[in-house]
Amino acid sequence: MQTFSCRCGNALFFENTHCLACESEVGWCPACTNIVALEPLTGGGYRCTNKNCGVALMKCHNYAVENVCNRMVVMAEGHADTLCDCCRYNDVIPDLDIIGNRERWAALEAAKRRLFHTLDLLKLPHGIEGENIRVPLSFSFMADALPDQGLWRSTASQEKVYTGHANGHITINVKEADDVERERLRVDMNESHRTLIGHFRHEIGHYYWDLLIKGLEEDVCRQVFGDHSCPTYADALEQYYQQGAPADWPTRFISAYASMHPWEDFAETFAFYLDMVAVLDTALHMGLSRAEYDGTLNSMLLAFHQVGLAVNELNRDMGLLDLAPGVIAPTVCDKLAYVHTLVKRANTSFNA
Ligand SMILES: [Zn+2]
Ligand SMILES: [Zn+2]
Ligand SMILES: [Zn+2]
Ligand SMILES: [Zn+2]
Repeated sequence: MQTFSCRCGNALFFENTHCLACESEVGWCPACTNIVALEPLTGGGYRCTNKNCGVALMKCHNYAVENVCNRMVVMAEGHADTLCDCCRYNDVIPDLDIIGNRERWAALEAAKRRLFHTLDLLKLPHGIEGENIRVPLSFSFMADALPDQGLWRSTASQEKVYTGHANGHITINVKEADDVERERLRVDMNESHRTLIGHFRHEIGHYYWDLLIKGLEEDVCRQVFGDHSCPTYADALEQYYQQGAPADWPTRFISAYASMHPWEDFAETFAFYLDMVAVLDTALHMGLSRAEYDGTLNSMLLAFHQVGLAVNELNRDMGLLDLAPGVIAPTVCDKLAYVHTLVKRANTSFNA
């Protein structure tokens, strides 16, 4: 991610709704793809203050009314009740009568906006129902049950919401937006990372399997990730929760969970690929010359390794967890190479 610039010269960040220096309202302008200061118009709406842009804008409904978004829509395209290019993918939003859910929703939307930013950097196709896309994409943010005085009541299994993907529909359990709850799950599951953005990147990996591989090149994928139809997903899941990951998983998988089934392996590998793209994009915008790469996977892996070394040491200085794995096994590199080719091909064939 890059930083942006207010009309007053102050730095603006991707999540900002106000400039802390001049107190202007700010938002994401879809016309010039920037976070910009907003000039209120007398008849309602705003003007983008980017000198090279200046289009008339309205706030996304979820910005104006719900306060969980910071995106604008071009005025000619809609009216005050329009959803932005990220919010329009929502199918179910959290129950806002429950205390804390608005904050959780805001955290989910912030992570989703970052996800879309990376997808758009890669020019990966996506769209909603009714648009020209083979598998329409949508999101639901749902909770298990009513929280009881801030604590999550244990619920019967049928009342549980599982974070996951099915046929283009991504569900995220809103408790993942609770830092304490998510960290507890991370330790329980023995994961090195468990983040909101990580969930989005993993689930979108399943989406791109459906969009780019299912019924199109499953045999090619099989050669890289193994046979996804044998064992069945249900059998693999059962076995994973009984026996855990094989001891040698680091030599073959990007994470322990990836060893569960080829679909999870693909989603974990795809998520790691998006991690690399996002981290290198930020590092380049922040002036880290080590982050430069020529577009090949090898140079990308090398740049990520170099940036990873620096950031891991910074994190250790502050007692935080490592950002990047030390070594990526050759088998994992082969899987990443497949994802890299798939992404490159998708952005040319779909946008031709
Ligand atoms: Zn300002
Ligand atoms: Zn603009
Ligand atoms: Zn929005
Ligand atoms: Zn998954």
